[in-house]
Amino acid sequence: MPADAFNGFPVASEVRLGGDETQTRMVVDFNQKVEIHAFTLANPYRVIIDLPQVVFRFPPNTGESGRGLIKAFRYGLMMTGGSRIVIDLTRPARVDKTYVLDAANDQPPRVVLDLTAIDKDAFMRTIALDNNRVREPAAAAKPQPKSDARPIVVLDPGHGGIDNGTKAASGEMEKNIVLDFALLLRDKIEKAGKYHVVMTRSDDTFVALADRVQLARAQQASLFISIHADALPRGEGDTQGASIYTLSETASDSEAARLAETENRADVIAGVRPHVRAQ
Ligand SMILES: [Zn+2]
Repeated sequence: MPADAFNGFPVASEVRLGGDETQTRMVVDFNQKVEIHAFTLANPYRVIIDLPQVVFRFPPNTGESGRGLIKAFRYGLMMTGGSRIVIDLTRPARVDKTYVLDAANDQPPRVVLDLTAIDKDAFMRTIALDNNRVREPAAAAKPQPKSDARPIVVLDPGHGGIDNGTKAASGEMEKNIVLDFALLLRDKIEKAGKYHVVMTRSDDTFVALADRVQLARAQQASLFISIHADALPRGEGDTQGASIYTLSETASDSEAARLAETENRADVIAGVRPHVRAQ
C-alpha cells in the first residue's frame, strides 16, 4: 500500500531487538524520519517512547515476547497526533541513547533505542529527572452546549489505542469489539430521541481513566456506561450473556477497589504516569 494511504502519517514497519540482559538495543524502521521522546516509569519498570502519530504495520504478534532487558512491548495511538510504544522491562534499565537516523546504505529511516541495566536506586533517580520534562496527553473532555435539555448518557468503550484489552483466541481485540458495540448502541439510543449520547472515545485512541471520569462529570451525565468484553480462559465453560457491574454512592469499598484496580491496569498498560496532586 502506498504511503499516502495512511494520510501521510509515518509508517512503522518493523522492529528488531539485539543484545542481552546488560545492554539491549531496539531498532524501529519507518518510511520517514520521526522525532521521539523516551522516558522511564516504575511499578512495573517500563520505558515509554512517545512519537508523533504513526501507523504501526508490524507483523502479527510483534512485541508479545522480547529479548534481553525487554520483556515485551505494545504500541498504538495515545491521542490525536501522538502514538506511543510501551516497553516492559525484565529489570531496571536506563535509556542510554536514542538516535533518529535518516535513510542510508539501503536502510530505511529508523529509530534506535539503547538500554543499559542499572540498579533500582539509580532507576528511581532517573525517573525523578524525567518527571520534570514530560508532556502528558490533554484531557479529552469537551463542554457540551447546554441547548439540549435531554439527559446525557455517556458511553465508555473500554481500552483503546495502545491498550488492546483482552485478546480472543481468534486474535480479535476487546478494544475493537466494545467500540463497534458502543457505536451501534449510541445510534440506537440517539434514534429513540430521549437521550443525548456522549462517547468517551469514538475511535481507536487511548483515554486515561481520569479523563473518562472527567468527561462524564463535565457533561453532568445522568448515566455512565462503561463497556467491556471479557474473555474466559479455556475450560471455564461456554458462557453467554452479559455481566453488569454497578458502582453507586453506596457501593461497598471492595467493589470500588476492584474497579479502581482494573482501570489502573489500563493506565499501567498505556504508560500513563500517576497523577501528582498539586501542592
Ligand atoms: Zn475490558
